[in-house]
Amino acid sequence: MLKFWPSRKAAFQYPIGEAPRTAVLVPWFRTGRSVQSFPGWTQNASDYAPAAIAGTRAQLLALTAEPPALTHALIVLARPTDMLLTNADRDQLWRAFRVPVFEQLIGAQGDRLAAECEAHDGLHVEAQGHDWTGYAIDEGLCACGLRTPRVSSPVPAERVRAAAMFAR
Ligand SMILES: [Zn+2]
Repeated sequence: MLKFWPSRKAAFQYPIGEAPRTAVLVPWFRTGRSVQSFPGWTQNASDYAPAAIAGTRAQLLALTAEPPALTHALIVLARPTDMLLTNADRDQLWRAFRVPVFEQLIGAQGDRLAAECEAHDGLHVEAQGHDWTGYAIDEGLCACGLRTPRVSSPVPAERVRAAAMFAR
């Protein structure tokens, strides 16, 4: 008997154009055709021979010890409470994989809250209703041509408090 379970999760969105063969290492999305989900970097994920991998910062940094050969991209997936990539993280990922890195902030239902474009200058906000308190926000025109605001590294709470003390 054929059963249909409607998924409430949003689909994974590849950063630019059609997704190549992509292995997604977290169960946050609806996947399909060229995008497959795996419970981490398993043998099955390796056998899938992806052109791109999407996973958390911790998962992707762990893979730099023995990086699989990729041809397209790394997509770093983060929840809004997670730390965004540092420049040191990006250097480490580049040295290991030699493919562009695109960071995305993902909401509870797999919805994309903000995503990095090919200009790699912050993450374009896609969820206007989300509370971006604590993030640095750039409202200038992006080199990619979009005018939507871009968020970057949240300022750590203790620095915000310290700045507030100074302001008094
Ligand atoms: Zn842009």
